[in-house]
Amino acid sequence: MTATADATILPAHYTEMTSLLREASTLGSVGALLGWDQETYMPPGAGRARAEQSSVIARLTHEKRTDPRLGELIRACEEDPEISDPSSETGANIRCIRRDFDKATKVPGDLVAELARTGSEAQDLWKHAREKSDFAAFAPALTKMLDLTRRKAECLGVTSGGELYDALLDEYEPDARASEIEAVFLPLRDRLSAFIADIRENGTPPRVDFTRREVPVEKQHAFGRAVVSALGFDFGAGRLDTTTHPFCSGMAAGDTRLTTRYAPDNFADALSSTMHEAGHGLYEQGLPKSGPFAGTPLADDVSLGIHESQSRMWENSVGRSRAFWAWALPLANRHFGGVFDDIDVDTMVPAMNTCTPSLIRVESDEPTYNLHVMIRFGLERSMIKGELAVADLPGAWNEQYKRLLGVDVPDDRRGCLQDVHWSFGLIGYFPTYSLGNLYAAQLWETINEQIPDLDARMERGEFGALLGWLRENIHKHGRRYTARELCERATGKALSADPLMRHLERRVRPAYGL
Ligand code: ZN
Repeated sequence: MTATADATILPAHYTEMTSLLREASTLGSVGALLGWDQETYMPPGAGRARAEQSSVIARLTHEKRTDPRLGELIRACEEDPEISDPSSETGANIRCIRRDFDKATKVPGDLVAELARTGSEAQDLWKHAREKSDFAAFAPALTKMLDLTRRKAECLGVTSGGELYDALLDEYEPDARASEIEAVFLPLRDRLSAFIADIRENGTPPRVDFTRREVPVEKQHAFGRAVVSALGFDFGAGRLDTTTHPFCSGMAAGDTRLTTRYAPDNFADALSSTMHEAGHGLYEQGLPKSGPFAGTPLADDVSLGIHESQSRMWENSVGRSRAFWAWALPLANRHFGGVFDDIDVDTMVPAMNTCTPSLIRVESDEPTYNLHVMIRFGLERSMIKGELAVADLPGAWNEQYKRLLGVDVPDDRRGCLQDVHWSFGLIGYFPTYSLGNLYAAQLWETINEQIPDLDARMERGEFGALLGWLRENIHKHGRRYTARELCERATGKALSADPLMRHLERRVRPAYGL
């Protein structure tokens, strides 16, 4: 018998189950550390050894997570009325542990291995196909990956009334349904498309030339650190390093690694990357990773959508606001030796809120970003359903870019070959990017109602009340509630596209003099 934080005595089957999970989680964190090192400081010569190290750790982690003993313990916990009440913390943990165990054991090992092997080959083929803008060279590999992914979805199973795509989506956004996402996305897609067309036709683009002024990378790094520190990121329990593709790894209790990238002539891109990853990092630092829930689902993030809501909130809702820049512009000038001395807040803020339809998702601005995502969601869902043939993908892609964003796709390199995701079977992942934006906007409205002087606080560089709200309403719950429940508990409403549209109207219209 073991005592928990709330002094209840837990049975041996529960404590044995959680200690097995803690070991799996510790192994997982070793894998994450290897991965972080590979992306930051590892010498190129270590590539082969690192691949072996990572694959051994991945195999051991998988063995721990699928251990038949774990299955017996989960069953014993489910049958124990003292701890299985779904509204209790232990009950919520048991529900999530069952879910993870089933997922890890439902897909046969040979299919997992085939997906990994084919995915790695497909990724290689994709890289070359993209360079040459040669979709035909990638199409057979994509067809193969789609077949394997469909098989995986069949193993995971479809809930009644659902579709195959739901099983894939569920990996990244547990309990979400494609039909529910579509019900939010479709009206938003048309409103966004009309909004962007209106801005482009009737607005006057803001001045952006000064954003390309040279700022030495070391000065950008010091400024980024100062900002992230002020937001509340604990550098005693984390780091900020440089990489090609920025990411955040919340690898363990007391160890959250942020990475970002710098270009001397694009300080704004580096700042938004840094604030984005810091948003992920603040969430990781706020999860209850030490204490009684260590290594269990209650110490984990809910979903990619909620994770992304945290990053996008700090990047966009905070980082593109007038209140933030009232504080950050003088700070930037101190760090940058007055590079923006002649730029006032009223000139800086519109430059952070542009609206320019473009071809590449990862380079797109806040108003146009979601259209890129929604196009991918529709297309991948149609491919999984078998309604869209791989051969017809480029045509369908180009047609939608023209219709929704008003841009002509000149070649597949800048079209349907631009993202790596599909090549290694990440299908069902894209919608979580937009879910993140929707959750962020809805949370932001509630936060501003509940902290009415938030702008005044941000103007003084005070972000503690905001972080405190997120800690209390999102972070501390781990996976106790589903994303949908968490959103409803925090905002009192079901997820809607209205807050995001209001947010964009408020930010982008003034930037274009409308
Ligand atoms: Zn992110």
